[in-house]
Amino acid sequence: MDNRYSRQQLFSPIGEKGQQQLQEKHVLIIGAGALGSASAEALVRAGIGKLTIIDRDYVEWSNLQRQQLYTEQDAQEKIPKAIAAKKRLQSINSAVEINAYIFDADTENLQGLLEDVDLMIDATDNFDIRFMMNDLAQKYHIPWIYGSCVGSYGATYTIVPGKTPCLHCLLKVMPNTGMTCDTVGIISPAVQIVAAYQVTEALKLLVDDEKARRKSFLTFDVWQNQHYEINVDKMRHEDCPSCGKNPTYPYLAYENQTKLEILCGRDAIQIRPPKPIHYNLEQLAVQLRPYGEIQKNPYLLSLQTQDYRLVIFQDGRAVIHGIADLQEAKSIYYRLLG
Ligand SMILES: [Zn+2]
Repeated sequence: MDNRYSRQQLFSPIGEKGQQQLQEKHVLIIGAGALGSASAEALVRAGIGKLTIIDRDYVEWSNLQRQQLYTEQDAQEKIPKAIAAKKRLQSINSAVEINAYIFDADTENLQGLLEDVDLMIDATDNFDIRFMMNDLAQKYHIPWIYGSCVGSYGATYTIVPGKTPCLHCLLKVMPNTGMTCDTVGIISPAVQIVAAYQVTEALKLLVDDEKARRKSFLTFDVWQNQHYEINVDKMRHEDCPSCGKNPTYPYLAYENQTKLEILCGRDAIQIRPPKPIHYNLEQLAVQLRPYGEIQKNPYLLSLQTQDYRLVIFQDGRAVIHGIADLQEAKSIYYRLLG
């Protein structure tokens, strides 16, 4: 059989030795949206040993324009992204061990996954989770690669505990435009560029090519033909609560985690029960049938009424679409689910 990695091995900074190293590495990708799909596919094709991917959402039609792992059928059946991603990735490279989890990242469930993780990739859409990743990275000495994009704009930075400033140190240079993909949209090349930088940095770290690691904080606007690199080497703060001398890891504290939130501009509210509950979706379907139209797959149940759509995951997490008021969302949740 032909060696599927021959071209990558010919690339001298990787070589046969690097290929061997890649095969021994475990990468955790948080988020399986646009960025997560792109990095997961590239890393699986590159032949890493193990990939863990987590995501809390299911595939929707508006994802298909840029989330490269998903199909119309996935959107039709509301398949959770983690499940659809795993299936597609496994068909691309069956030699990679792929673990997929459907959940909303929090300190507890993330910590449980970190044991042999060599690298984390940020493919989330919010800073709550990024700061949590940042603290976990420092606490467990795991490098991670920040990435974000909106419109035609993107940003990325490689954070190595003990060597570089952390996300917390960089707060001042962080772009905080308040724009989201749901308000100003996004074009897929912006995603592909950020993911390409993230994957390249990942490969460098995984084959231990420390010299090649990019040291700058990079931003670009591919539509406006702009590209900036900020030198942030000296921005590490000794008293940083995440990476300083006496770290307190503030974002790992329970009280900093939201239980109820409005999802990034989607006209949807997510409600998490205080403790995970295991729902029997069959039973729940029977119970909720009088309220509207039910659609179900092995991972979630969707109830469409005249006013809103309620999606319930097995762990009791619910997303209510079409409701903008938190109190109203809560009352629907408690009325229907107790
Ligand atoms: Zn720091």
